Amino acid sequence: MSAKDKPPRLATRLVRGGQTRSQHKETAEALFLTSGFVYDSAAEADARFAGASPGYLYGRYANPTVRMFEERLMALEGKGAEECLAVGSGMAAVNAALLANLKAGDRVIGARAMFASCLWILDTLLPRLGVDVELVDGEDLDQWKDAAKKGVTLALIESPSNPMLGAVDIQAVADIVHSAGGKLIVDNVFASPLLQKPFAFGADIVVYSATKHMDGQGRTLAGAILASKELIDAGIREFLRHTGPAISPFNAWVLVKGLETIALRVERQCANAARIANALAGHARIERLYYPGRADHPHHALHARQMNAGGTMIAFDVAGGRAGAWRFLDALELIDISNNLGDAKSLATHPATTTHRRLTDEARARIGVQEGSVRLSVGLEDADDLIEDLLQALEQA
Ligand SMILES: *Cc1c(COP(=O)(O)O)cnc(C)c1O
Repeated sequence: MSAKDKPPRLATRLVRGGQTRSQHKETAEALFLTSGFVYDSAAEADARFAGASPGYLYGRYANPTVRMFEERLMALEGKGAEECLAVGSGMAAVNAALLANLKAGDRVIGARAMFASCLWILDTLLPRLGVDVELVDGEDLDQWKDAAKKGVTLALIESPSNPMLGAVDIQAVADIVHSAGGKLIVDNVFASPLLQKPFAFGADIVVYSATKHMDGQGRTLAGAILASKELIDAGIREFLRHTGPAISPFNAWVLVKGLETIALRVERQCANAARIANALAGHARIERLYYPGRADHPHHALHARQMNAGGTMIAFDVAGGRAGAWRFLDALELIDISNNLGDAKSLATHPATTTHRRLTDEARARIGVQEGSVRLSVGLEDADDLIEDLLQALEQA
């Protein structure tokens, strides 16, 4: 077998995947900052619009730089990712994956521990459009089975979930949803495409906020939807073309370059997170610590089955409730207070008063968010500097 016949390995796909060079043979991926495309003749325009001739039509539909990002992400996601469409934000991806496949009277089941804006679509927008929505505790398969008995068009889960890093059994939920005739959407942001492959566990659609680990350097908002060609062509592509949540070619270019280094970054972030989790576990001012890679995480066995590393995120409850958590956050000298994640810079947030403030106290308690809970996104700084900063801040909490 020659090198040409062999599928390139991951590191090679991340650097080379999807690149198409222009007539100038540039080294780096070209940035096609254009909204439209021209045709050599009226007949050629007709043929393109009819789909009989290949080529680009309009920036809202597709763009060569955006296509490089989509192809590279498909090469990273691997088996099951037959098609990928990039959009302007992670929420545009989640919204399109849902709305493109729903009509009034349909039913959606969601695991209640999810990103706050995803929850808003489920608990506020969809009911307004006549879609019946039921929320379940994601880890409780009996609740999934009961909910599916009433029918399910789509299900939406996150694993690890935001912010307390719980695990949902993707394969078991996929089986329940499929046997009720529905499709499963997995929001795979917290794991990143490097650590977890939802298609291997039966997911039908995988969505990402590319804002997080794919950029990973705090520059752009973006999102992506991956699925079979059949599912994309059954409605998602059409939905995106006509509703317009298009990604800027510039942002797609930033992300193409982001994917070149994502494996190196996520690998180092996981190593830093594992060291930090071990350094903080058992600290007198931490009541509980959640890191998927530690054996004391309540869902460790399931995380270990689904993810090939512990991840880049840690959650913990600081003693002293909100006051303790706020004193801790305010005492951090290196780590920034920010609700973004997956970044090169380590970022800490207080979910109860930021990302999850819209939830009632009861709803927050149900997904494990306490007044003292802190979510930490571990970056690329030296792990010893991070540990020193966290320990000195805990002393002041
Ligand atoms: C950030 C995030 C989103 C939304 O992505 P944006 O790019 O901010 O729109 C959705 N789901 C999860 C799990 C996220 O972390």
